[in-house]
Amino acid sequence: MNDLEYSGKHEALVSPEVWQKVNDRLSQNKKAYKRAYSGSDGLLSGLLFCGDCGARMSIRQWGWKTSKVNKYICYSVSRCSKRMIKSDSCSNRKEHFTVSDLDALVLDEIKKLALDPAALDALVEENAGEAPPDLGAFRERLGNVEKQITRLLNLYQTGIVGLEEIQDRLSALKEERKAAQKCLEEAEAEGSGKMSKGEAAAALASLSGIIEAGDGDGLYALVHSLIEKVVVLNGNVTIYWAFC
Ligand SMILES: [Zn+2]
Repeated sequence: MNDLEYSGKHEALVSPEVWQKVNDRLSQNKKAYKRAYSGSDGLLSGLLFCGDCGARMSIRQWGWKTSKVNKYICYSVSRCSKRMIKSDSCSNRKEHFTVSDLDALVLDEIKKLALDPAALDALVEENAGEAPPDLGAFRERLGNVEKQITRLLNLYQTGIVGLEEIQDRLSALKEERKAAQKCLEEAEAEGSGKMSKGEAAAALASLSGIIEAGDGDGLYALVHSLIEKVVVLNGNVTIYWAFC
């Protein structure tokens, strides 16, 4: 009867039993993941970057004639698209991941977070070191410039000063306003790009439902909402999460 008291706080977002079910279904029914696993449009498409040259990575048939497999390859190495090449000497040539191995590895990291809220907490804490942009300071600066412009225009309207007297000052203030607006917009964009921890938890909680339903588009959308980018270099993988 006391079960409830013990669950609550550290309850996994997805129970291990559900995950087992989910994994069984996933391996039985890869066809359901048409989009996620089909040829050129992998689960991680658009998220993968080379850890050496910074180029994007794409799925290539890689290997010798008889043993070709779909692998994620840096564009500078595959050289299949001229405009995507970033370097002539990229060193990312060893231990290429097959598409299914890297997809599974990344899904596994997501699964760990879904099973263990403490892991999500730890990740969020780790990233908290990067201070968020100080929107208040930017807004204050913009407000001050606006006030000065208004004051100046009021002076002109009351006839105390002539237009030629305030012109230089006015255009300087307008330049300053433009710069302040730009700073504010950039800071806002940076702040809003990040998912909150609550949003990440909610997304993780939806994972088992998505997989149980065999919803390939849903899985693709979930992976792309949780992850900002994945950097790969000679068998090493670094996941950059999209939440703060
Ligand atoms: Zn590269």
